[in-house]
Amino acid sequence: MILDCAIVGGGPAGLTAGLYTTRGGLENVTMFEKGMPGGQITQSSEIENYPGVTGEITGMDLMIPWPEQCQKFGLKHDMVEVTRVSKDGDIFKIYKGDGTVSEAYSVIIGTGSSPRRAGFAGEDEFFGRGVSTCATCDGFFYKGKEVAVVGGGDTALEEALYLAKICKKVYLIHRRDTFRSAPNTVARIKRTENIELILNSVPDEVYGDKMGVNGLKVKNKDGEIRDIAVPGVFTFVGNNVNNQTLIQEDGSFLCEMTKSGEVIVDISMKTSVAGLFATGDMRIAAPKQVVSAAGDGAVAALQAISYVDELLNA
Ligand code: FAD
Ligand code: NAP
Repeated sequence: MILDCAIVGGGPAGLTAGLYTTRGGLENVTMFEKGMPGGQITQSSEIENYPGVTGEITGMDLMIPWPEQCQKFGLKHDMVEVTRVSKDGDIFKIYKGDGTVSEAYSVIIGTGSSPRRAGFAGEDEFFGRGVSTCATCDGFFYKGKEVAVVGGGDTALEEALYLAKICKKVYLIHRRDTFRSAPNTVARIKRTENIELILNSVPDEVYGDKMGVNGLKVKNKDGEIRDIAVPGVFTFVGNNVNNQTLIQEDGSFLCEMTKSGEVIVDISMKTSVAGLFATGDMRIAAPKQVVSAAGDGAVAALQAISYVDELLNA
């Protein structure tokens, strides 16, 4: 069976695309998501800018109802990693990690982005053993202890605030003396007594033993090293776009991309390939917000419905 639409990725963009394609009349729609649906926001300890949600809510709590709502309208979920999306004539081929291939008339891709490594000595060696990119997942291990947070964007500051509620002290290490984060978040950081700012500084080396991390050496602009004895280091230094599924056998991309690897789309989320739509964090000029990813998913779905209708009824 050829799918009317294949959705690759089950974050806010993919799930919303799933809701709108199925509710909008496409019969056979499958969302290929390698893990639990919900996307990267499920790692966030708090989301306070999703419209209409006024209470304190975790990213996980926000996302739990989304798949259920989609399934009500017939969206199918295949829990598998997509390795490549290609196009042969009018038919897209979705190559999967289990060795099988699905076919579809249209594809909406929303594979999002993944945490970037900061690149200091010991980061890879101790990843998962004291170095983490998820405060909600690992913060509890450091209850009552001191931890370091690296980064100066929204994620680093918000997660530092979360960790400050659990941990005795949070060292917030940022390479400049101004932050990228929203001003009200910066203000909250500055009035949180157990957060110490270490500015104009970068991690130099995380060290430890078989049991895990024992400390972090931090280097300032003048090259001076400060040794902080922490068992946990959380890095939030931005994200890389997950565009791997668009890489073809010859190494080229299926559609036009920016130099930094984002998918080029127009305001209808159309890519340079007919029937292929890109949404959310992976597309050019993405605001990188749940609400905009969801909006992209809706726009792409409406376009996919028209595209499939024209293709099959022309
Ligand atoms: P993602 O959420 O990244 O979802 C992509 C999905 O695709 C994932 O589930 C992934 O498993 C899946 N996938 C990837 N590759 C494959 C593959 N090859 N095969 C199958 N499946 C695949 N935004 C806000 O609006 N407010 C906030 O407060 C906020 N806080 C944040 C806090 C943190 C800690 C983080 C990390 C992000 C935060 N964001 C916030 C940003 C927000 O989470 C993202 O903008 C949003 O999730 C992007 O949605 P998406 O659907 O494009 O991608
Ligand atoms: P980001 O905005 O790209 O910030 C990354 C931070 O890490 C920057 O401060 C950067 O420093 C620093 N950095 C990068 N590489 C580094 C390295 N190798 N060593 C040390 N520091 C390094 O990433 P983000 O905070 O994850 O946010 C990503 C997107 O999601 C943003 O658009 C953000 O607004 C959005 N988001 C929004 C919310 C919200 O709306 N509440 C919450 C989370 C995320 P410089 O500042 O010097 O470049």
